[in-house]
Amino acid sequence: MMMRMNNSEQRKCQNCKKDFVIEPEDFDFYKKIKVPPPTWCPECRLVRRLVWRNERCLYKRNCDLCSVAVFSAFAPQAPYAVYCVECYASDKWDAMQHGRPYDWNKSFFEQWRALFTDVPQRNLYVTNSTHSPYGGNMLRDSTRIYLSYSLLSSEDVFYSKDIDTSRSVFDSFDVVESENVFQGMLGYKNYNCDFIYFSRSCLDSRYLYDCVNCRNCFMCTNLRNKEFYIKNAPCTKEEYKREINKIDFGSYKISVSLYEEFLAAIRNALHKYAIILNCSNCTGNDLINSKNARVCFSSHDIENVKFAFRILTTRDAMDLTYLGINSELLYECQGTGSAHSSFVRFNIHGFDGHNHDVQYSANCGSSSHLFGCVGIRNKQYCILNRQYSKEEYEALAPKIIAHMDEVPYISNTRQGSSDKVIEYKYGEFFPIEFSPFAYNETLAQEYFSLTEKEVDSRGYRWRKPDAKHYSVTKNPEDLADHIKDADDSVCDEVIGCAHNGLCKHQCTTAFRVLREELQYYKSRNVPLPRLCPNCRHYERLAQRNPLKLWHRRCSCNKGTSNKEQGTSGYKNTAAHFHGDASCPNELETPYAPERKETVYCESCYNAEIL
Ligand SMILES: [Zn+2]
Ligand SMILES: [Zn+2]
Ligand SMILES: [Zn+2]
Ligand SMILES: [Zn+2]
Ligand SMILES: [Zn+2]
Repeated sequence: MMMRMNNSEQRKCQNCKKDFVIEPEDFDFYKKIKVPPPTWCPECRLVRRLVWRNERCLYKRNCDLCSVAVFSAFAPQAPYAVYCVECYASDKWDAMQHGRPYDWNKSFFEQWRALFTDVPQRNLYVTNSTHSPYGGNMLRDSTRIYLSYSLLSSEDVFYSKDIDTSRSVFDSFDVVESENVFQGMLGYKNYNCDFIYFSRSCLDSRYLYDCVNCRNCFMCTNLRNKEFYIKNAPCTKEEYKREINKIDFGSYKISVSLYEEFLAAIRNALHKYAIILNCSNCTGNDLINSKNARVCFSSHDIENVKFAFRILTTRDAMDLTYLGINSELLYECQGTGSAHSSFVRFNIHGFDGHNHDVQYSANCGSSSHLFGCVGIRNKQYCILNRQYSKEEYEALAPKIIAHMDEVPYISNTRQGSSDKVIEYKYGEFFPIEFSPFAYNETLAQEYFSLTEKEVDSRGYRWRKPDAKHYSVTKNPEDLADHIKDADDSVCDEVIGCAHNGLCKHQCTTAFRVLREELQYYKSRNVPLPRLCPNCRHYERLAQRNPLKLWHRRCSCNKGTSNKEQGTSGYKNTAAHFHGDASCPNELETPYAPERKETVYCESCYNAEIL
């Protein structure tokens, strides 16, 4: 046994049946937080958590307490009472009334599922956010929000996702500390920019990829500290103005060709193996200010963390998706939500307030020593929402853990033509089939997109879109080409989405344009969209790297071009440490080896760009 602890070990994933490796330091962590090693591979674990997060499939229903009409992540047919944000936070109900004794004749997971179904749910995860009746979901400390998801401390945000501490952001994705941004993605500290991807500290620019500290630049890639550049070539201020004024940005046709040109420029740009800024000993992508983060994505200020996605200021943790502010010792959590939490395992959506020593719980806050609880606040020593004394709890919790191993929950789903049997003992996250959401309602569909058939063959649940109650009054091809020709009447139209539901984008098939939105497009001189907000989000998502890493070589080949790789070829402009030979460096990168882009290691990239 001890021998094994010193070595990495290969296991077969219970879910996908592929082999995966558990490293010695992983075993150390599991020991530290008292959980057995996982039986699912990291990717299946990530998908299993993402299936519990529905951001953008919202339904109209009524609060089951005060009857107010609300939007909810839970479909009206779902078997849950749903309370509006105000009622949920009030004293008008008590989750402890749903408490029950532990039943030694049933598996723990079955009992938890019955409790989870019984306890009311919040319609949306919205905390301290105002003036946003159609705000979207997963909003915290934000104001004047429209159909946006996963926002922190932001204002005036439309059709965007993963936005932190920003103002006036429109149709954007993963933007931090920015203002006045249209079509931004993976941006940090940008101001007044349109179509700005993977760039930082830029202003008054359009169509930039991987640029830093640039101003008045148009259609440029890989620039540092530049002003008045068009297509990576310098020009005078007057030339810049003249050239920019020639481009009719308000025309839809022109915007399509500009975007195609932009995507081609991105394909031909130099790509750093990963976006890892001010970090040490990290692997993953989109990481800032972090230390010892392994296989982590879109996270900042984390330390000793592995397999995390969109996590902030957290240390000593594994298998986390979405937030977890100033927290430590977390494992297998989806939406830890509450800040300053510690020693939390197998948890879904913490409610506000510090949680400590909480496991197998959902929607709980300001609590400690909880096991298998749902929706409770300000409590200690509870199991299945029932109060125990400290002594009773400390005697009962280990017995339940042993019982979970003796009487596991057996998940028996059909997988294609055969059965898929999965055993859930202590140490597993909640089964996918317990999620209130169908696969295609959740973030799993965004990052691991499947067709209905594929979802079915994996034994997951698919939700057929509801028949729409509205009829399209304007086809997208009948919209005015130029924004200056769009009048207020377009705000009364139900516009068909050009994808018409024939994509894997959670397409709503139709959309509306708000009056203030029309004003925005006019003032910014950009055309009306032709796609519904969900399809627009998925189109941006397609330009991002997946939440996966591949091991491959740096593509810097003999210091010249790499035409043989099928790109138009990047030509080195500087001397590299490897001289005339190919770069020997190996990479952990979200660019799969078969990708056509030129992907450089840190050293080759810095030689060219910095
Ligand atoms: Zn797997
Ligand atoms: Zn659509
Ligand atoms: Zn679509
Ligand atoms: Zn290299
Ligand atoms: Zn090189």
